[in-house]
Amino acid sequence: MAGLIIAIDGPVGSGKSTVARRVAELLGYLHLDSGAMYRAVALRAMRAGVPLDDAAGLERVAREARIEMEMNGAERRVSLDGEDVTERLRGPEMSLYASRVAVVPGVRRVLVTHQQRMGAAGGIVVEGRDIGTVVFPHAGLKIYLDAELEVRARRRWMEYEQKGTPTDLSRMVEEVRERDHRDRDRTASPLRRAGDAVYVDCSAMEAEEVARLVAMLAREREGASAAKGD
Ligand code: C5P
Repeated sequence: MAGLIIAIDGPVGSGKSTVARRVAELLGYLHLDSGAMYRAVALRAMRAGVPLDDAAGLERVAREARIEMEMNGAERRVSLDGEDVTERLRGPEMSLYASRVAVVPGVRRVLVTHQQRMGAAGGIVVEGRDIGTVVFPHAGLKIYLDAELEVRARRRWMEYEQKGTPTDLSRMVEEVRERDHRDRDRTASPLRRAGDAVYVDCSAMEAEEVARLVAMLAREREGASAAKGD
């Protein structure tokens, strides 16, 4: 049995990446970070000078982008058109730019098709905003990971501090608020909790605790579908 598709959605800073990576490790699954794909398209558009209001141009940028993700030891690397852009994609500038590119329906269509192809065989943890609602509506397990705004902003702020790019905490709160607003209020696939997703508020939980909870739920579901002979 190849394993389930596990969809993990939630707002910025909810800890999706850390949790998704760890769940994949615990279960021996693959891990797909769909946000990195939106970031890669945003970087390609920025470099090509395609303006944010040129929807057709942005869709073309997405269609022609060669985005590859591979593991290098425990580290995930992202390459764009053959160039390793992992570090470049992580900065705060790319976060905001990606959330603006992600409102374009044509860009979403292209990336959703890629994601569906990559996850079709199962045995994969996919994280994003629309995974349980649009990309894999029939995922074997759906998690909606949430935390209070201040907690999420503080986590992001600490990440930047640790990376040696100190930012202002109040600026971080504003940035997270802005991305939340854009992700939830856009017309194309807004961030929503799927009706059948398990809601986890991790404001007061460690990532490891959340990951173990998700892995336990996945094992239960794997067992249930094996018993049914799926
Ligand atoms: O998850 P991450 O912060 O890396 O995603 C960057 C941006 O890409 C998000 O702010 C969101 O606007 C967009 N995104 C999306 N749908 C996804 C994953 C990310 O719209 N499935």
